[in-house]
This record gives sequence, C-alpha cells and structure tokens, in this order.
Amino acid sequence: MEDERVVSAVIQGDDAALENSLRPHNLSEYVGQEAVKSSLKIYIEAALKRHEPLDHILLYGPPGLGKTTLASIVAAEMGQNIRVTSGPAIERPGDLASILANLGENDVLFIDEIHRLSRSVEEVLYPAMEDFAIDIMLGKGPTARSMRVAVPHFTLVGATTRAGLLSAPLRDRFGIIYRLEMYQPEELAKILTRSAGILKVKETKPEGMLELARRSRGTPRIANRMLKRARDFAEVRGNGTITKEIADQALTMEGVDNLGLDKTDRTMLETMMDKFGGGPVGLDTLAATTGEDATTIEDVYEPYLMQLGFILRTPRGRICTEAAWKHMNRIMPAGAQTSI
Ligand code: ADP
Repeated sequence: MEDERVVSAVIQGDDAALENSLRPHNLSEYVGQEAVKSSLKIYIEAALKRHEPLDHILLYGPPGLGKTTLASIVAAEMGQNIRVTSGPAIERPGDLASILANLGENDVLFIDEIHRLSRSVEEVLYPAMEDFAIDIMLGKGPTARSMRVAVPHFTLVGATTRAGLLSAPLRDRFGIIYRLEMYQPEELAKILTRSAGILKVKETKPEGMLELARRSRGTPRIANRMLKRARDFAEVRGNGTITKEIADQALTMEGVDNLGLDKTDRTMLETMMDKFGGGPVGLDTLAATTGEDATTIEDVYEPYLMQLGFILRTPRGRICTEAAWKHMNRIMPAGAQTSI
C-alpha cells in the first residue's frame, strides 16, 4: 500500500506534527527551486510596494516537494495570514462562500488538490478570483435571482500534482504558475542537515546526510522521514551519529535500495519486464497487473522512475530503458524496445 511505504511521498500517520516542526518559515530557509524563489521575490516586493494582494499562484508537481510550505512562506513574506483547505474538503458552493467571506483583507487562501474541486464550487471561485465577489442565489425556481456580494481581496495559492488535471477556465485565472522540480541530492542534504538540528540528532556526518539524500527520490518529505528512521537506528545500533554506514543500514533495513527504490517500485519494474518484455505496456494494464491505482502510479511512482531514466512514455505505453534492466539485474531480451 502506498500509505505504508517509507519512500511514500504522501503524508503518513505521524508525519503532520513532524512536518510542521521542520517547515521553513521564509524564502531564505527554503532550499532549492531557485527560479521559483527569485521570481516570487520580485512579485512579492512589487505587491508589497503597491499595497495589493499578490496575483493568484498555481503550484504543481509531485507530492512532498514543498507546495504547502511555499504557500505558507508566501503568506509570511506578505505579512498575511494563511487559510489552508483542500479541494475534496470544500463540498458545496456554500462552504467556499463562507471560507471566502471569513478571510482577512489580503490573506492567502491555500487550496491543496485544487483539481478535485467540484464544478459548482469552481464556479463560485471564478468571480472571487477575478472580481473579489461571489454571486449568491436568492430564492428558488423562476423567481430566483442572484446578488453579487464583495469578499475580501485575497491571494489564492492552488496546489496540484498535475496541472493537466485542472479545468482550463480555472488554470487561466492564475497569474503565476510554477512547476516544482525534484531536488538534487546536495539540496536535500542541506534540508536534512537543518532538520537534524531541529530534531536534535546528536551528530551528523556530511556523507551520512548525502546517503539519505541520494535515496530520498528527490523529495524533502521522504528525506525528512528517512532522517527520523536513521536517527532511531543510530541511537539503538550506533552511538547516535548518523554516518554513511548507519544511513545505509537504516535504509537497507527498510527495503530501500541504493537509488531509493523500494519493493513497490521494483515490483512495478519486474512486472513490466517479466510479464510484458519491458513494454510498451499501457497504464491501465500496469495498474491492473500490479494492483496499484493508475493515478497513484502516474503521480507517485512514475515521476521518480522517469527522473532516473528507467521508464519512458511512448504513444503505445510505458517502456523500461536499458538502465532499468541493468539496475534490476536482468538480461534484456533481444528486440526489447528501450527508446522512443
Ligand atoms: P507538498 O505540499 O508539496 O506535498 P510540503 O510543503 O508539505 O509538500 O513539504 C513536505 C515537507 O518537506 C515539509 O515538512 C517541509 O519541511 C519539507 N520541505 C519541502 N520543501 C522544502 C524546501 N524547499 N526546503 C526545506 N524543506 C522543505
């Protein structure tokens, strides 16, 4: 199950409290995503000078890359409060209307999984984003009429795993759109060193941090979770110091290999190789054969396998590359398709 994996990018049981304590509070503490940061800095400064709310921002990218964190940093840098909610939590148009009406002037409204808003809720959002107003229906049937009511000025920060899942009218209403990238090991090592300080790890070795970073799928949420496991391992099996060896042993015990792949990733690659000769295999077939959800495969497993160059998408389906066959220690059949 996706929820039980140590390398899962999705938030797990005891993650929430940990995440809040590790979350950076301003742009200078936010590691990486340099292009996003430098452009945001300019927009924030300009908005502050004009005493206006920032343009609406859409953040997209795989889970755990720092979308929620960035939204709260935007609010902090603007000196405003943030109201956090999510697409599935806003069930009816009235729910959104009441959230909007209760915002403070120039506040930030963060809607996670914004692609999961229902059509009718989206329709309330359009005039709110454009004119800071909502249309309320009075009465029912032929005598019903709508009344426009002003809501406070606000900045909407929407987050989604894939921008393509958003309806076009909603996407068009965002002035600023950023795609968050997976992090380089050096960046993750920096995040880990800061987190280790907060978590009061006795001592960390740079090679230990880099080892955790390399096996964290480019994702800060996973890196921080692995740090916690390595801290426990270091305290019980070592003297509390996270060395390269301790990091390696802790992750190996969790079934995470030297590239950060776990059992589920390997099962997926194995299925593609053993049952489909390395592909091409369609997403739905792969989902049915592995028992995983197609959306989870697309949002969670594939981005990293593609980043590693292990999987390619072709018009006829997914294929494994030569590097994947090698990593899985399998002999590639002659004639297997390994490039587009
Ligand atoms: P998302 O909303 O994209 O799923 P989050 O913003 O919840 O991801 O980030 C997950 C965790 O990773 C947070 O607790 C935060 O501490 C850490 N994190 C994410 N991005 C960064 C970053 N750029 N620098 C430092 N820590 C980060």
